[in-house]
Parts: sequence; C-alpha cells; structure tokens
Amino acid sequence: MSHLDLSFDPANCLIGGKWVRPASGEMLPLYDPSYGTEICHIARGSSKDIDAAVAAARAALDGEWGRMTAAERGRILARIGQLVLENIDHLARLEAADVGKPLKQARADAIALARYLEFYAGAADKIHGETIPYLDGYTVYTLREPHGVTGHIVPWNYPMQIIGRSVTAALTMGNACVLKPAEEACLTALVFGDLAQQAGLPDGALNIVPGLGAEAGAALSQHPGIDHVSFTGSVGVGKQIQIAAAQNLVPVTLELGGKSPQLVFDDADLDAALPFLVNAGIQNAGQTCSASSRILVQRGVYDQVCAAMAKSYEALQVGPAIDDFDIGPLISRRQKAIVDGFVDKGSDLNLIAKGKLSAEAAEGGNFVVPRLFADVDPHHTLAQDEIFGPVQVVIPFDDEAQAIKIANGTDYGLVASVWTRDGARQMRLAKALDSGQVFVNNYGAGGGVELPFGGSGKSGHGREKGFEALYSFSRLKTVAAYHG
Ligand code: NAD
Repeated sequence: MSHLDLSFDPANCLIGGKWVRPASGEMLPLYDPSYGTEICHIARGSSKDIDAAVAAARAALDGEWGRMTAAERGRILARIGQLVLENIDHLARLEAADVGKPLKQARADAIALARYLEFYAGAADKIHGETIPYLDGYTVYTLREPHGVTGHIVPWNYPMQIIGRSVTAALTMGNACVLKPAEEACLTALVFGDLAQQAGLPDGALNIVPGLGAEAGAALSQHPGIDHVSFTGSVGVGKQIQIAAAQNLVPVTLELGGKSPQLVFDDADLDAALPFLVNAGIQNAGQTCSASSRILVQRGVYDQVCAAMAKSYEALQVGPAIDDFDIGPLISRRQKAIVDGFVDKGSDLNLIAKGKLSAEAAEGGNFVVPRLFADVDPHHTLAQDEIFGPVQVVIPFDDEAQAIKIANGTDYGLVASVWTRDGARQMRLAKALDSGQVFVNNYGAGGGVELPFGGSGKSGHGREKGFEALYSFSRLKTVAAYHG
C-alpha cells in the first residue's frame, strides 16, 4: 500500500448525497503507475449502483436542485471552484500518484478544473432563449432547459480536466449527473464529489459510481433513465456507447482519439515553434487525445527541424511523477505493452532520437522513453494510428497542397496547427484542415476552457468547453403563444 495521504475513504460511491459501499461490496485495486504499488481499493460499482444513482439524480431534479435558479447554481459552482483552488496541492498529489503525471502537470490540471468552475459559474445565468418575430397575433420565444439526468463516462488520462469539461457544464444547465470515472484513476473524482457537497450542491445533483467499463460504464450508457451521455475515451468503446444510446434515442457527445498534425512551413518562426512541436507530443507521456503525434515539415527547413527536435528529445528525462520529471510513466502495464508494440512496428523506421530513463525510475513503473522517428511514410501505421504514448513521427512535404493532403489523410480530425508567417496561407489552411480546432503559430492556445473542443471522423462528434458545451447540455423548447 502507498503512504499517500488520502484523508477520505476511497472505497465508496456517492449516491443521493451519501457515501456508500457498492451494492455488491466488491472492490478494485488502484495502482501507482510510477512504482506499480497498490494505492488503495475503490468501489467496483455495478448496475445496481447505477440504478440507485440514476434514481437519486431524478429525485434531485424533482427536488431542491430542479427548483434552483440559474444564478443559485452559478453561486454553488463558484464555491466548488474556490474549494478546488484551496485544495490544489492535495488534488495535484493525488492525480500525480493515480495517473502517473508529473506533479507540475497535475497542478495545472487542478487549476484548469477551477477555471471550468469559474467560467461556468459566471455563464450560468447568461444563457438566454430568444424571441422570434412571427405571424400577427403570436408571441414566440425559446427556452433552454436541461436534458434531465446526464451520464458522464470519463477516462484516466485527465480526470480533473474532463470532469471540469463535462460535469460542470452539465450542472450549469441544471442537469443532475451520474459520473463513472475510470477504473485506473478515480481519486480526484471522489474528492471533487466531496468538495461539491461542501459547497452546498444539493443531494443527488452529482452521483459518482466508480467501477469497470464493461460493468458500471455499460450499465450507465444503456440505462433508460439517462437523457444524455457524454463519453470521453477510445474509438471502440465510443461506438458501443453510441449504439447503447441509440436504443434509448438519447443524444451523445463523443470525445475520442486523435492523430493531430502540426504543419511547419519554410517561412515559420522555428524558435517559436520548437517547444510546441515537442511538448505537444510528449505531454502526459503522449497520453493526450489532442497530442500532436505527426510533425509535417516543408523540405526547406526539414533537416533543421529534425535536428532541433532530436536535440530536445535527447534532453528529456523519464521518471516518477511525484519527482516532476519531463515525462512520467504510462498509466498501466497494458498501455505500456500497446506503446511498446507500436515501437516494434517502427523498427524499420529512421529513429533519430530517444529520451533517457532517469536513475529514479523504479523497476515496477510503466516507463517508456520518448522516441522521435523521421522520414516516415504518411501511410505507415505509426503515422496513421493513435499510439497514446510518447512517440512522434516527422514527415516531409513539398508544398501546401501536399501538406493538406497528408494532414487530412487519417481517420481522425481533432486538432491541427500551422506554423507560417504568410497570412493568406494561415487563412487558407485554417479552412482546409479537417479538424475541430486549428491553431495558427501555436498549439493548444494554453488549453483555454473558453475554447469549444471536439472532433470529426474517428475523433467523435459534439462539442464541449466554452459556451458550446452549455448548448450541448441543454435542449431548446419553442413556445408559440397566440393572443390575437
Ligand atoms: P476506454 O474507452 O477504454 O475507457 C474510457 C472510459 O470508458 C473509462 O471510464 C472506462 O471504464 C469506460 N468504458 C470502457 N468500456 C466501456 C463500455 N463497454 N461501456 C461503457 N463504458 C466503458 O479508453 P481508455 O483506453 O481508458 O482511454 C484512452 C482513449 O481515450 C484514447 O483513445 C484517447 O484518445 C481517448 N481520449 C479522448 C479524449 C478526448 O477528449 N477526445 C480525452 C481523453 C482520452
């Protein structure tokens, strides 16, 4: 067992405002990816717990939560945000141990969660309907109403950020939520539930049922009492979620994977680009849906970019999350095996640089050193498939048309960026790239909570973040009153 200070009982579900053991009494072990040691046991929720959570959420909608004004909901979200800020160190340490992400990144994630709460607290009473000019004798207007009970299935790679992105937006619009965190990492989700209670969120407005995807996750996505499903995770499970939601004819938001490119043209400011080219690929050990795993470089600066990126790679150190190395471990042995498998498939490629394993990297940790491959054929599996590990490929191109073709030549469409000083090219590329977000002379824009996010193709559909999420987590009613 780890000596991590949990200061709460991690073996419970939060249902109807009470922390309760799962109905089956069964538990799952949670591991620290940096050492392979057990941290604690968490609840193995089942369909019985999901039934209870959905019923509790429904009761909240029929009770105090359902009667609250938008301003009152905003005030509660602001209070949760304040509590998150007061608990940043605690949250960051838990996330670092649970996910294996460097402490600095875990801190940034906690701050991002607080930012979501601040942003949506301010937005809660600023979402209005419209009046619509219509036939003589009519007054027509629209109302934005919550879906009802929303299901949220989140992955392990950015628990705090994804809870911020989906659960807080759903609460803003007055939905009652059932959250199924990932079985690999769910501690900060539980602390979030505790902070929400401390902030005065009415019982049942937020319910949390940890457990396995095939059990608690499947039960949630199939539940006839759920009115909307928000899923972040893999493509394969995303398809299952959409099929399950179709049985109940409820809307889904799917935030899936990516193979996001950065396009570097001959006229780019290379000094500005370099840190983004590398960091966007190795952040969170590459386990980021919006990781930039493909670097497309025009031939005039190709050798220069490869050499500069290789130099950065050779300085990268891999080690335990809590010691804040550049790169932490992967989440699990399974994930490490997947990434090692891709590296094997690249054995015929031009590996131009590798990072280093630090002396502190324990044997039980799921460490993988970052690797940079150059001259990669755009059709190679390493240039087509999401690896979800610290591996980037560099691909040369001759001109704009070829760059667009390669950039759009995967099944994904989540994020892309363009590095060029040519203003007209910036505008052309922003339109031509098949991607939910396009960045010009940056990558990620600091991850702002204000910026709508989501993909096309295998990256999923629907948008979260910003005001767009508030439209996704509500439905529009049109009222046409005839008064003569
Ligand atoms: P995963 O799909 O296996 O798991 C994600 C969540 O779904 C977990 O909570 C899991 O328990 C649950 N789940 C698993 N099987 C389920 C089922 N049959 N029914 C219902 N729920 C089920 O994904 P993963 O491997 O844990 O995460 C990595 C993937 O997630 C990557 O492909 C990555 O690109 C994607 N991801 C996307 C985003 C985004 O915002 N687009 C963010 C993070 C991760």
